[in-house]
Amino acid sequence: MPKQYVIALDQGTTSSRAVLVDHQGQMVDVVQREFAQIYPQPGWVEHNPQDILMSQIGSLTELVQRHGLTEDDVAAIGIDNQRETTIVWDPTGNPVFNAIVWQCRRTAPMVEELCSAPETRALIQAKTGLLPDAYFSASKIKWILDNVPGARQKAEAGELFFGTVDTWLVWVLTGGLVHATDPTNASRTMLYDIHRGCWDDELLALFGIPRSMMPEVRPSAGFFGETSYPGVPAGIPICGVAGDQQSALFGQCCFSPGEAKNTYGTGCFLLLHTGTEAPLSRNNLVTTIVANPPDVEPIQYALEGSVFVAGALIQWLRDEMGILRDAGESEYLAQSVPDTGGVYVVPAFTGLGAPYWNAEARGLICGITRGTRPAHLVRASLEALAYQSVDLVRAMEADAGVRLDTLNVDGGASRNNFLMQFQADVLGCQIRRPANIETTSLGAAFLAGLASGFWGGTDELRGLRATDDVFSPARDDADVERLLAGWKDAIRRAL
Ligand code: ADP
Repeated sequence: MPKQYVIALDQGTTSSRAVLVDHQGQMVDVVQREFAQIYPQPGWVEHNPQDILMSQIGSLTELVQRHGLTEDDVAAIGIDNQRETTIVWDPTGNPVFNAIVWQCRRTAPMVEELCSAPETRALIQAKTGLLPDAYFSASKIKWILDNVPGARQKAEAGELFFGTVDTWLVWVLTGGLVHATDPTNASRTMLYDIHRGCWDDELLALFGIPRSMMPEVRPSAGFFGETSYPGVPAGIPICGVAGDQQSALFGQCCFSPGEAKNTYGTGCFLLLHTGTEAPLSRNNLVTTIVANPPDVEPIQYALEGSVFVAGALIQWLRDEMGILRDAGESEYLAQSVPDTGGVYVVPAFTGLGAPYWNAEARGLICGITRGTRPAHLVRASLEALAYQSVDLVRAMEADAGVRLDTLNVDGGASRNNFLMQFQADVLGCQIRRPANIETTSLGAAFLAGLASGFWGGTDELRGLRATDDVFSPARDDADVERLLAGWKDAIRRAL
């Protein structure tokens, strides 16, 4: 009997999900479990690795029970995960400290001290494609070794394992047999040479991290190990691993250079596939490794940029300003006025990201007149999501030397038709929204399904993806230029 399903384990920042995917690429069922966020001090964020594990395994076992699944039904498991979050554990499987979450800022002073010399910054960017930041795993590992009593000695004796969340899950699910990660997760540690495809001894030395802690790096679509954990059907191969954003890129079937996706969630995450070229950004973007299909050998890359405040601006209108009952209402309100009446909103709540990169900038609303109403403010806010994405795309196009013709979209706010049409207008390219906007888990399912032979190849996957809607540019150029000039002026004021 051919197997009917693959399962994606979608390990996110606030919840873990297990997703059952059938041969048509349809999501048959999803079980989701939230877990606790730990804030020991302002700016510090931790997760208990056992909470991550129990929420993930709990959602998996519930999915298995609901559908009466056995190892004969499931071709493979794929994992996508919150990136950069750092866990260190000992050979008995005991974490020596809580997971230090990607958002945690505790190591910002350390990164400033170790990496601020221009030649160090340049070295790190040249090797890892990243701009030195506390966000990435390197300084978080060092913090654990420096602050947990006895940890450094154990690490030096080869008695501690480091892993991002994928590695932790693979290690536990395989009964402690496999200590491995994939290139997409490795490329977010700031310890991996993305050109040579290996851990970098110079960077490991800079952060005082013994090489023996580091996981083996295996292809994203390939065999990692078999399940061997109480309560989980034994012997299911784990065949796909990717960090969440690269997984979403794969789930959008962006397998080739020039293809891009933008996720409109709390923030936006934009990735542009650049093929075997690894452009060094001059616009504060990072270069990251993408997940390859099983038959593709050479390392392939993407430029990545993020908008800090996107859907969060709509939440702010709802929760702090009280002018929306729910996020969906923004679409109707925005369309109830012909334009913003000259109002611009720059949501620089925590500074401005790429390409401006200014931590001190703060939000502003400008162009208000006596006639400004809540609907204008709502419309200007949705437009701000689109303008910020235009800024990122233009920076990427400049770095990569390409021109985007289609942007694939997903994430909660991509449901907003006004926003998508406006995005097409001001970006001047097609916006393609798939029927299934849960592309992150779909990517992990695709990787595992390709590697296990559940699907035959990327052409078959392209054939599975159903398009919900395509938005094409519909405004004249002069109008777009006028709108963008107003945005540039608002940004200048925020800066
Ligand atoms: P995340 O994964 O970052 O939590 P989601 O992809 O679930 O985010 O998207 C939720 C975000 O999208 C919220 O910030 C919400 O304000 C915004 N959002 C959801 N639906 C809409 C909509 N119809 N219009 C505009 N924004 C929306």
